Amino acid sequence: MLTSALRVTKPDPADLLAWYDRHRRDLPWRAKPGETADPYRVWLSEIMLQQTTVAAVKPFYQRFLERFPTVTALAEAPVEAVMQAWAGLGYYSRARNLHACAKAVVDKHGGSFPAIEAELLKLKGVGAYTAAAVAAIAFGEPAAAVDGNVERVVSRLFAIEDPLPKAKPQIRALTQEMVPTDRPGDFAQALMDLGATICTPKRPACALCPWMKPCRARAAGLQETFPRKQKKETGPLRKGAAFVVLRADDSVLLRTRPPQGLLGGMAEAPTSAWETDYEPSRAVLDAPIEARWQRLPGTVRHVFTHFPLELTVLFAKVPKGTPAPDDMRWTPRRELPGEALPGVMKKVLAHALGEAAPVKGTPKGKRAQSA
Ligand code: SF4
Repeated sequence: MLTSALRVTKPDPADLLAWYDRHRRDLPWRAKPGETADPYRVWLSEIMLQQTTVAAVKPFYQRFLERFPTVTALAEAPVEAVMQAWAGLGYYSRARNLHACAKAVVDKHGGSFPAIEAELLKLKGVGAYTAAAVAAIAFGEPAAAVDGNVERVVSRLFAIEDPLPKAKPQIRALTQEMVPTDRPGDFAQALMDLGATICTPKRPACALCPWMKPCRARAAGLQETFPRKQKKETGPLRKGAAFVVLRADDSVLLRTRPPQGLLGGMAEAPTSAWETDYEPSRAVLDAPIEARWQRLPGTVRHVFTHFPLELTVLFAKVPKGTPAPDDMRWTPRRELPGEALPGVMKKVLAHALGEAAPVKGTPKGKRAQSA
């Protein structure tokens, strides 16, 4: 909820712009002070910067621009040439959309990007952030370009308690309120620079920030705790037992999980069912094989997306020649790294077999007691 108090302490965009005039980053796609921004370059850089860092984009941007200096040149190029020039930037759907967008700009807009945010938004591969950024930077529209960096800055400025993504509309509204009508493009770029260089995710340099005084998170000393994150919903703890059987020929009993469902098709030491009310003291009743079972001290814990799991581990040695029960098999211990063992099973085997049987992916000597 926005309160009147928040509105009163609203940071002044002029302070940010004054800071930007002194500290703006010199980026190849950015117009110099006094120059008019080229919509093609702004759009191209924004698409390249989606999911990619500035440092990685810089050399690609230069080469791409030399090859396709205008939106018309890009539209007229075969898609294969565009894909080739994009190679190395990843997320190839962006390159396909880029080409389709260039064609639409040429075919439907006469080779000029539409100057309105709402029209830009209709172009392929242009989302809310890119449309607002191009509209503000290239056409001077007072549009609020809000990406992850801006969300971080604004959520800290106003100490927004709602977690993301719930806070997005509030962040957007607060950003929009601050966009100045005279320099919207510089304001967008200033916010980008502030988020990238000062208001960083970890250890923001608040002492250098032009908005240090009005920043509510900084005043409370809680800047790193914003934006608030949604707590992960996890289900109740499930428990079960895992059975590690070592045959005298140094083989371990394994089975393959059903193809469907959790950890489908992966290998595992046999286990009981995993239940919230599982009683570990009765685990031996679920053992896959008759043997002298030894309950190992401690438990193995693992957190799946939807629930945490705690496994009691039972261990047994059996004589050479002991057959595997139906749907199970013996795997020589040295071949365990070649089995498709999920993390939880690597922990179970490391817990039972210890350093004598390092399992690929489990740090040597680490007895897995917790997730
Ligand atoms: S004062 Fe610190 S936390 Fe607040 S906006 Fe500036 S850098 Fe970010």
